[in-house]
Amino acid sequence: MSDREFDVLIIGGGPGGLACGQYSARAGRKTAILEEMACGGQTMIIDEIENYPGLGTISGFELSSAFESQAVKFGCEIIYATVEEIVKNEDKSFTVKTSDGDFKALAVVISTGAKHRNLGVPGEEKLRGHGVSYCATCDGPFFKGKKILVCGGGDSAVQEANYLTKLSDNITVCHRRDRFRAQSAVVKALEDTGKATFKMNHNVLSINGDSKVTSVTFLDKTKNEEYTEDFDAVFVFVGNEPQSQIVPFAELDKSGFIVTDNRMRTSVEGLYAVGDVRNTPFRQIVTAASDGAVAAHDASEYIDELKGNAY
Ligand code: NAP
Repeated sequence: MSDREFDVLIIGGGPGGLACGQYSARAGRKTAILEEMACGGQTMIIDEIENYPGLGTISGFELSSAFESQAVKFGCEIIYATVEEIVKNEDKSFTVKTSDGDFKALAVVISTGAKHRNLGVPGEEKLRGHGVSYCATCDGPFFKGKKILVCGGGDSAVQEANYLTKLSDNITVCHRRDRFRAQSAVVKALEDTGKATFKMNHNVLSINGDSKVTSVTFLDKTKNEEYTEDFDAVFVFVGNEPQSQIVPFAELDKSGFIVTDNRMRTSVEGLYAVGDVRNTPFRQIVTAASDGAVAAHDASEYIDELKGNAY
């Protein structure tokens, strides 16, 4: 095999990709992860992770680094390049076209994760970076002691609001429904800080300000009333969009997540998907890591069959 040919190429170095890289390399498969920026994915920007089994509380940076060094230790290569196209060849192999030239592989694992969704209201785009943020760990410290609004009702919104209570006693969480989607333990942890107030059944209509966020206009759906309240910053956590555009030829669900079976196989032979980009009911670091291990195992068996080594 040339240095551009692999048994398994993994696209994306988040927890799913890194776990897959570790398992695949350890199983003796020539494996590489193609990563655009830095390994770790969205895990990198999480301040504290307290639900990864066996590790107590750990920062996202520490956990990502540990995943990466363990994959590398077993021989998985990390190649920094942007994937532009994936082509399935007639001989069943794949050509992965990147900013650093073409690579070939017998199996490809998509681990491209998901990117944050926008709220989609007036003012959001204009004030992005001027009080509108999508990352509490990155931008929270700029708003120490300030009045902060967090939008969203999932685990990310509630967990990140909890992080922001370390920086300000004045946190408001705004959710469009009357119940959180977030796990109850995550909600309770935020309530227990005593530093957050909740606007349930509220829509954000606009984020206001000329050069920085100064206020937010809401619709209180219970009272059917519009009103405006002063805020210094708005943190938006309203879910994620799957990064599945790179495999338009694979079956996607109606939200764009890649459809897999329980071995992480997609609709295309030799193509796997793991972690947040696939249609999984529960998106956690531990489930992404598990997906990675399962995909590596199945890809290894698939490669044995291709090479005629199956027993
Ligand atoms: P999510 O679970 O999809 O929640 C998105 C939230 O945003 C929902 O409450 C949704 O409201 C709301 N929303 C969506 N579009 C909106 C809009 N246009 N305007 C206002 N609100 C809107 O996303 P997530 O919180 O980012 O979590 C993603 C995945 O990661 C989940 O599977 C989650 O469990 C996981 N995660 C886990 C942890 C943890 O275990 N500690 C931490 C972070 C994330 P509705 O509820 O009305 O749909």
